[in-house]
Amino acid sequence: PLFQRSVCLAQVERTLAMVKPDGVMGNYSEEIKKMIAATGFVIAAEKVVQLDEAAVGIFYAEHSQREFFPSLVKFMTSGPVLAMVLEKENAVAQWRALIGPTDATKARISHPKSIRAMCGSDSQNNCVHGSDSHQSAAREVAFFFGNHKSGEVMVGHDEL
Ligand code: UDP
Repeated sequence: PLFQRSVCLAQVERTLAMVKPDGVMGNYSEEIKKMIAATGFVIAAEKVVQLDEAAVGIFYAEHSQREFFPSLVKFMTSGPVLAMVLEKENAVAQWRALIGPTDATKARISHPKSIRAMCGSDSQNNCVHGSDSHQSAAREVAFFFGNHKSGEVMVGHDEL
């Protein structure tokens, strides 16, 4: 054929988003969900969960030897979190871009429209989490929601 048909299938990706205890307690969950929708993500699943020390140890295993880890555990167990599976093309990178840099004090200067600039306080109490790679996204989605297929309807709120 003269023209080769170029099939360009948009690759829908998933990432794990979380509103941390400071964001939930500060009543930012709804505002954050509006920003998620306005950016074109689909929330494929969501649940509110109270993490315990063991769960934080698994979720943040890569930081378990850091000096800030005990304080991080205290923070992450201080109240419920809202975990969400977000779907969109390039979801991992786009969600990271929307949340902004780790340190909210720096985010307010360099990324003033980011979520961490809006509701984070510092380098620990930074309001939201986002998977930093496809590998982390797969692990973190499975951590909160188990393994399930894209397109499954899985919206639910667990008992606290
Ligand atoms: N964190 C902290 N102190 C630090 C750096 C990080 O308490 O000096 C916390 C903070 O809540 C951060 C989480 O540990 O979001 C994970 O750190 P990471 O460097 O992976 O940042 P992120 O991927 O969340 O931007």
